[in-house]
Amino acid sequence: MDDVLYEGKSKIVCTGRDESTLLIRFKDSATAFNGEKKAELPGKAQLNAAISNIIFNYLAQHGIQSHVIEVIDKTSVLVKKADIIMVEIIVRNIAAGSFSKKFGIAEGTVLHNTAIEFCIKSDDLGDPMINESQITAIGLAQPQELAEMIQQSLKINDLLYALFAKAGIKLVDFKLEFGRCGGQIILCDEISPDSCRLWDSETEKKLDKDRFRLDLGNVLDAYREVLGRLQNV
Ligand code: UDP
Repeated sequence: MDDVLYEGKSKIVCTGRDESTLLIRFKDSATAFNGEKKAELPGKAQLNAAISNIIFNYLAQHGIQSHVIEVIDKTSVLVKKADIIMVEIIVRNIAAGSFSKKFGIAEGTVLHNTAIEFCIKSDDLGDPMINESQITAIGLAQPQELAEMIQQSLKINDLLYALFAKAGIKLVDFKLEFGRCGGQIILCDEISPDSCRLWDSETEKKLDKDRFRLDLGNVLDAYREVLGRLQNV
């Protein structure tokens, strides 16, 4: 275990216990704007691993299968090797970020229904938006796989919206990744303040990676706040 196979922007993927597993190590690096903005935030790995582990564990208890097998240490998780579907699913409850900019909708506007968007997972292409018929047309996913990913994403949204609400946090939007494993579609990657927009329910203070993207400061204090609140739910 522990030979590096691939180093990404926020995680390192290593060999696992056997052919069917991988070890994922969270990194302290923070990146934004497709890698243009970078920084080291010592302690981010531990915080994101801890937050993601709480969330994946909660989702597992509610019937969502993921790649997580076992937490190895404070920054490493043993996962099932999955064939990652190269589509990122963005789920939105409240307008923010690129959605607000693209459609001219004020940040913070509550959406009439959950909006689902798809992007191709490709740094080279800059994660372009893609629609459902385009995804199946170019073979990124089969129609039934896409339907399954959408169904799971909506269920995950309902579960996480309720979890964060209990923690006094609004789940504004988030990104999910899925993979094929043993004939099933399973949730992969991480769910953390790096991949979600999380606002304090009362003050709407940003408790996520926008603090880094927008130079708002106290990035890790916000992540620590999210972890502390989830631990007390
Ligand atoms: N997101 C992500 N990785 C990406 C793109 C988006 O984790 O490569 C998350 C992002 O943190 C936010 C949500 O998906 O919670 C929606 O992001 P948006 O499309 O608004 O893009 P951004 O404003 O982050 O460029």
